[in-house]
Amino acid sequence: MPGAIDTPTMDVDTFLRDARPLGTYLDDVLAAMTAEGHEIEDTLVAISACRDELVAPLPTGVTARWGHPFVLGGLGGLPAVGPTGWATALSHVPSNRSGGTFLVFGMSHLGIDPSGTFGQSLRVGQRTPSSTCGALIATRASLTEPDGGASCPFDDHEICRLWDTVHERHPDAVPDIATLSTSVAAAIDDAIFDIIDRLEPSGGEDLTVAVCTGVHIHLPDDDERIIPHRSTVIASDGTTRALTI
Ligand SMILES: [Zn+2]
Repeated sequence: MPGAIDTPTMDVDTFLRDARPLGTYLDDVLAAMTAEGHEIEDTLVAISACRDELVAPLPTGVTARWGHPFVLGGLGGLPAVGPTGWATALSHVPSNRSGGTFLVFGMSHLGIDPSGTFGQSLRVGQRTPSSTCGALIATRASLTEPDGGASCPFDDHEICRLWDTVHERHPDAVPDIATLSTSVAAAIDDAIFDIIDRLEPSGGEDLTVAVCTGVHIHLPDDDERIIPHRSTVIASDGTTRALTI
């Protein structure tokens, strides 16, 4: 997907200072959930992440720990399904015991190529780096054009949702792609909470929902990292608190 590539605005090590290897991050979430009494067999995981094949290590890592996830995400990582899709996912939460756990991962994503350039990945079988996240970089390119910002120029409802979200969050100036990826992780978190607030969970009175969001980073040599944004538990009575991971 076309789009302008940024000159790095910060060094990679600074950007990754809070990043954890993907496997470590998932282990940390699993340990925190288990410590709170949320067993694997009582948990359904859902993922809102981009459609890019580079994101695959996330569902693969989830599957290895919790089993196959329900897919919620569209381009850029924003949830692509509406209330019906969410209700369907919730209806799949295990009910072995009095309640179950619905664990949602929501991730924007960002490539960093071998030269340290943000927003690019050297993909298998390609000789030159390509955009990652391509949808977000195309959105950013559109919004930074002199006449950008009037309306979404793409004929694709998923990228237009992303375009609208970025435009709403950054009406005056769109930040560099690394900073924008962090902003989109926050937008994904907001979108997940917005729809959960509107749902009537069908998993029973004791259903617990947990939401873990962040930025999925793709570094060279299959080095996958997560920069956590927020991790939250929503108890069956609707109260929320941070999940310490
Ligand atoms: Zn993407």
